[in-house]
Amino acid sequence: MADVTKFLDGIATFQQQHFGENPDLADTLLSGQKPQALLIGCCDSRVDPALLTGSAPGDLFILRNIANLVPPYSKSDDYHGVSSSIEYAVCFLEVSDIIILGHSGCGGINALMEAAKGPEAGEFIGKWVNIAASARDKVLTEMAEETPEKQARACEKEAILVSLKNLMSFPWIKERVAKGQLSLHGWYYNMGTGQLSYYNQLSGEYEILVERYSPGTANSQATVSE
Ligand SMILES: [Zn+2]
Repeated sequence: MADVTKFLDGIATFQQQHFGENPDLADTLLSGQKPQALLIGCCDSRVDPALLTGSAPGDLFILRNIANLVPPYSKSDDYHGVSSSIEYAVCFLEVSDIIILGHSGCGGINALMEAAKGPEAGEFIGKWVNIAASARDKVLTEMAEETPEKQARACEKEAILVSLKNLMSFPWIKERVAKGQLSLHGWYYNMGTGQLSYYNQLSGEYEILVERYSPGTANSQATVSE
């Protein structure tokens, strides 16, 4: 068995970091959670939403799955792990923002791209990532001459738009967005450059939200924006 000591050391460090100098925080958190946002991210070990955003306990309600996908609203008899998490965040915790956080080099999106050429991946993965099949088909049509890498990067971004669209198929999300009580955000993290982009619904383009970190300079102009 691999040594897990580093994880145990990490828990001690976490306790010191967040509660050592702020013992009241534990009492506050015990009384309940009131996160501002639901963040839907990928399971990828390199893209941890709390680490990336420097969040403290209680800041983010986080849902992670392969390729940060949201399925369309459905009342079928299946197990709805993703939809139930979204329902809890929106209807019970009443978050004001939902962030879809995609990333470059996504293995789930790669599986989706590869499925266009051969069998689906795994027992469950292929069907799951097929939620974003329309994103893949759009990219393969519009970027037919591009390299597989460029197609995959484009599909990662398009898949975020599919999830944003699927979020709007949930009636209680659509209603809250229409009333201005809830904002939806599509973010894309480039692991190579360190840049965070967001989808600007007005321009229909991804635009840089946070620049690559440069030591000694202010590196963020970010305010959360639709
Ligand atoms: Zn991923």
